[in-house]
Amino acid sequence: VPAVIARPGSPAQPNAIGRALQLLGDRWTLLILRNMFFSRQRQFGELRDSLGISDSVLTSRLDALVADDVLERGERVGRHVDYRLTQRGLDVWRILVAVWAWERRWVPARPDDLPVLVHEQCGKPTEPILSCGGCETPTGARDLDTTLGPSGRLDLAAPPRHRRRSSRPERGVGATALFPDTLAIMGDRWSAVVFAAALLGTRRFSDFQRELGVSPTLLSGRLRSLETIGALAREGRGEYRLTDKGLAFFPVVAMLVDWAERWFGDPAQVTISFRHRPCGAVWRPGLRCDPCGEPLERGELRWT
Ligand SMILES: [Zn+2]
Ligand SMILES: [Zn+2]
Repeated sequence: VPAVIARPGSPAQPNAIGRALQLLGDRWTLLILRNMFFSRQRQFGELRDSLGISDSVLTSRLDALVADDVLERGERVGRHVDYRLTQRGLDVWRILVAVWAWERRWVPARPDDLPVLVHEQCGKPTEPILSCGGCETPTGARDLDTTLGPSGRLDLAAPPRHRRRSSRPERGVGATALFPDTLAIMGDRWSAVVFAAALLGTRRFSDFQRELGVSPTLLSGRLRSLETIGALAREGRGEYRLTDKGLAFFPVVAMLVDWAERWFGDPAQVTISFRHRPCGAVWRPGLRCDPCGEPLERGELRWT
């Protein structure tokens, strides 16, 4: 696989995954969406106060979400506007559910209590299981054959150079301590791309560098932060390997790729496609309820 993505060039346009990461690979954007889904916050003032975010940063993120048709502006309430999720925005639920499940399982000693997710159809608290949309069996990254499509170069998923942002949070307030490990992977677009390369089998520092066209300083910083949260481990001969915790993040990646293809993709220019080895079918990710085994639908879930 690395040979297929080893084409650092001059990306004119990001591919579908690049567009999704440009939008969602931002800690504030993820936190805004999380509060809109988990806490049903809709108003500018509610979001600002709960996240401890400045007016200008919040405005810039909301504007970007509106421009990308994830949110729409609703009614003005007092001094502040209220926001609604569009169909494209509502569809982010599967990414957030995957994030929630991973944080719950792999991130101990969380500073806040994660809400409990209840499957209303069976009435039980659920931990969603990633499954195959075809044969319906549970699926892990190791059960899939991955093919990169015409626009599946990882360098096209990376942020344009001139838009590179600092990996430091804008303000060190409490809110950024939520979903800390997820943000270490996804809250920065370069980390996300480095992580994706590791998932696709890249092991050596020089291969990461060549495939992603990334500077050594930036690359070692991102590898170090993935090591710090225990998603990546350095082995003998300087090779990097995903840990069990890192591999368990695959459902988030799968949901992100699926969302990106669905809403930003060009059917003739797929980025990545998966085949489920046990059943042989093209793999589309599904989420099933742990206690009852039924497929999870957005309308049947309740955060409590
Ligand atoms: Zn299958
Ligand atoms: Zn259920």
